[in-house]
Formats: sequence, C-alpha cells, structure tokens
Amino acid sequence: MTINSARLQQHFEQMSEIGKLGETGTCRPTMTPVEKKAFELAATWMLDANMTIRIDSFGNLIGRLYGTDPSLPVLMMGSHLDSQPYGGRFDGVAGVLCAIEAVNTLVENGIKPARTIEIVSFADEEGWRFNKGLFGSRGILGRLEDGELQRTDKDGITREQALIDFGCDPTKFKESEYPAGSIFCFLELHIEQGPILDLARKPIGVVSGISGPLWLTVKMKGMAGHTGSVPMHLRKDALVGAAEVIVAVNEIANQVRGAETVGTVGTINVFPASRNIIPEEVTFTVDLRDIDHSRRNRYEAQLRARINDIAKKHGLTYEITEDTNSEPRYCAGWIKEIIHQQCARLLLDAPELMSGPFHDALALSYACDYGMIFVRCKDGISHNPLEYASYEDLALGAEVLYGTVLDILSNKN
Ligand SMILES: [Zn+2]
Repeated sequence: MTINSARLQQHFEQMSEIGKLGETGTCRPTMTPVEKKAFELAATWMLDANMTIRIDSFGNLIGRLYGTDPSLPVLMMGSHLDSQPYGGRFDGVAGVLCAIEAVNTLVENGIKPARTIEIVSFADEEGWRFNKGLFGSRGILGRLEDGELQRTDKDGITREQALIDFGCDPTKFKESEYPAGSIFCFLELHIEQGPILDLARKPIGVVSGISGPLWLTVKMKGMAGHTGSVPMHLRKDALVGAAEVIVAVNEIANQVRGAETVGTVGTINVFPASRNIIPEEVTFTVDLRDIDHSRRNRYEAQLRARINDIAKKHGLTYEITEDTNSEPRYCAGWIKEIIHQQCARLLLDAPELMSGPFHDALALSYACDYGMIFVRCKDGISHNPLEYASYEDLALGAEVLYGTVLDILSNKN
C-alpha cells in the first residue's frame, strides 16, 4: 500500500462526528452550518495536501493542486459530504476522503503533475432537502433548470436563500461554471449501496455505467359503485387493473434472470379510498432502470402494451405521463481499463457492475470521460445509519484510486 490507511481511517472517524446521528448515523443536510463544518474539516486536509481551497457560488467545496502546465484540462475527482436525513457515514464521504488521500500520497511522494487536480465535494447531491439532487455537479456545467432557486425545503426556505445563508452568491453562477473542454476526466469512488460485491465477497468493483431511470406516473380510471350491489361482471374496478399492472412491472423486469433490469411500483393512491366503494381511480408510479438502453425501451413498450390490455379487460381508461427519462451513461473504456489494471496490481479480482443509483458522475458524464470505483458495503445497506464499509476495503479503494490517478497523469496528456 502506498496510501496511508491509518490517516484515511482517522479522517473517516473525524468526519463521522459532524452531524452524528446515534452511534453510526449521519444527518448532514446540504447548505447548512453542519455541512459548512464538514467543509472546514475537509478543507484542512486539502490544505495539508498542498491544495488551495474555495467554496464556489453553487456551494461546492473545491480543492486544487496546481499542475506545472495550467493550460491542460483538469483531472477532477470527488463526491459529496451532504447526507440523507437518516443516513450513514460513508455515502459520498468515501469519494471525497479517498480522493484527498490520493492527492496527499502524490504530494508525499514528491510527484509534481503537469495536469492540475481538483477535488470537489459537490453541493446537494442527495436532493431530499429541495427535492432535486446533483445541484452542484449540474451547476458547474451550466445544467440547472428553470425555477431551481425557487424550490423550497420543508421549512419554506428557498434554495436561493439557503445558498445566500451558506455564504454563496447566486448571481455569480456564471463565474463558477466550467467551460466546455476544461475538465479532462472525472473519477468518483463510492460505496456500492447494493449487495452485489458483498454477495460475491469482493471488496472492489469497476463500474460499467450508471443506469438511467425511467419514471412514469400511471392513472387508471374506472367507475365507482356500491361494493354491496354492483355485480362482479359489471364492475370497472381501477384497483384490480392497477394490481395487474404492478405484477406486470415485476414480471417484465424479471424476464431475464440475473439481468440488470429493475422495475418498481413505489407509490399508489386510490380514489375515493372507501372500504365500500369500488375504486374509481388509481394513480401509481413506475421506476424502470437498466444499463441496456434498448432493452429498457423494449420493456417500456411491453409495459405500455400490458397496461393497454389490462385496461381493456377491466373496462378502464388510462393515462401515462413521463416524469423523468434519463439514458444510461457509460464509463469510459480507457478509464475502466486503468482501474482494472490497478485492481490486478493489488491482486484484486474486481468484477464490473453497473450503478442503479445515480451519482455526481452522472452529471459529469455530459462534460467529460468518467470512471467509478465501487467499494463493498455490508449487506448492500445504504441511506441508513446501518450503512457500513470496512476501513480495509476503503483503503483498498483509495489505493486503486491513487494508482488510477498516477496512471492517468503519466500517460494521458
Ligand atoms: Zn452518494
């Protein structure tokens, strides 16, 4: 190991004290004094690693290690230090702290790269406070949408006000944007947040891509009536139709065993929701994800056909609205190759896997090549104080990240 695993562990332990929830949890909402404290702590480590630091107008913490050739596009790494309200110690934190460890190790080994390196703790990756995430990573790329500053949190505070309270100037967004071509590539280490590596007993995984979610809202409409008097063959029961669609979503996502497709109906609303009225209208959400975009499109078509058949069978009308339709974004082949080589150097058999959750890397994928390293997390539990990754695995991840950075700096200029 070239990296300092004891120092890395100490950083995790110190960071987990900020916004600590119970014994092992974290509550560190974005753009709050708690996140500011986390930034201040991470900034001291960045300064120790010879980096300059700043907080930009989006609320991102950015550390920079100047290269000898400032004309080269930067190598960017990072993740986030904000957490879910009932979150763990490793989600996001791992990507920031392992990146700092990698730069620290570079500096300690007297390596003076030509290319400038930046480490970013992105603002509001999690998205729960204002109901929309990846704020900082979309922000620096000029990809914010209309009305985002007017979104409010549960206390009625707008994003704009939260930014100002955090010390940012929302009128200066332009100054914090990165022009096209100014980022050479982006690397993000993250805990897997799923069970695949843990089940396979592998500490490290190489991410193949981030699957894009398709989010639909389906509304099925029938006819209300007295549950005691309307004979079964005359009913138009919207909930019976919806129930069949829910089963269909599950079947469609399950048709190829072991494939990466996942399909979920996570919410359902029944109208008028009375025990003695036949359900007239049912609204539910569908979340369909796949790393294989054409397969996901095929499954979507299958689902739409099934909804049509089921509606016909029960005499229902229906309406489908599309809320989100992101395409899968694949990691760069050349970066995956380097990560594989680094894993092999450490005698790690690192499987390739896709990421179902999205990360800041998804935003960056629209600006540059990107690669991701996954670290095993126990039982796949995340967004939960029980979230756990071992310091041994995290050190391995940091070592792989360090080797990847070294390789990119030496070869790809
Ligand atoms: Zn995360």
